[in-house]
Amino acid sequence: MPELGFLIDIDGVIYRGDEAIPEAISFLEMIQDYPYLFLTNNSSITPEAVLDQLDKLGIRHCGIENILTSAMATAGYLHRVTPGFTYYAVGGPGLHAALAEYGTADENAPDYVVVGEGEGLDYHAVTMGITMLLHGRSKLIGTNPDVNLDGTYNGRPAVLPGCGALIAPFQVGSGMKPLFVGKPSQVMYEQGLKALGRKPGEVFMIGDRPETDIKGAAQSGIRTILVTTGRFRRGDPYPAHTPRPDLIINSLAELDIAQLKAMVHT
Ligand SMILES: [Mg+2]
Repeated sequence: MPELGFLIDIDGVIYRGDEAIPEAISFLEMIQDYPYLFLTNNSSITPEAVLDQLDKLGIRHCGIENILTSAMATAGYLHRVTPGFTYYAVGGPGLHAALAEYGTADENAPDYVVVGEGEGLDYHAVTMGITMLLHGRSKLIGTNPDVNLDGTYNGRPAVLPGCGALIAPFQVGSGMKPLFVGKPSQVMYEQGLKALGRKPGEVFMIGDRPETDIKGAAQSGIRTILVTTGRFRRGDPYPAHTPRPDLIINSLAELDIAQLKAMVHT
């Protein structure tokens, strides 16, 4: 019997803005008997806030164990390479909470300057960060390379700057190249596979961004499904130098378990 597991992006796959994508709810019911993990590059929100958001959309059968944000993946990675690490964090509440679980905040000479998205960036933070990077031994870490994301600002739909944009002052100011942990980095997918307890070939990554969701998963040997309910739309030019997905679908309603099991066999 083939085993199955699912890594599922949230924005553009489960919901768009504040609205649930209706097919997502029945899809999640369909895969109830299989391990699954929501894999999101959003590092500013806590997993508890992700759960609240899912709950409001009527998605009630998941817990913290079903969520991996790029902030959680970053904290897990830093803990693995530098147990007891110290950090200076610039980002939202999700980043601070995840790092505090494994490391210790330090405003003098931290091991890492860690940047995520959210409202933490100001003149003070940039000055502190580039001083640590240039005067100390700090290394520059980004939670994810996304340059922007769709959201709301002051109650109106907006394009919000992503970590890839907000890390630029640190990168330019110090001349240091950041290491990014979130999708498409294989670090995030390794943690996802470990949490699922599945081999790469048994797992499907379902996402809406070719350059992150599909690229990172394909490079990790994971099966890939691109759904056109988010960023990438039918008819858009497929990005160059990016692996093609195993499937492109218009809606999660097109998927069924028998078909997915057959894909695992081949
Ligand atoms: Mg997405």
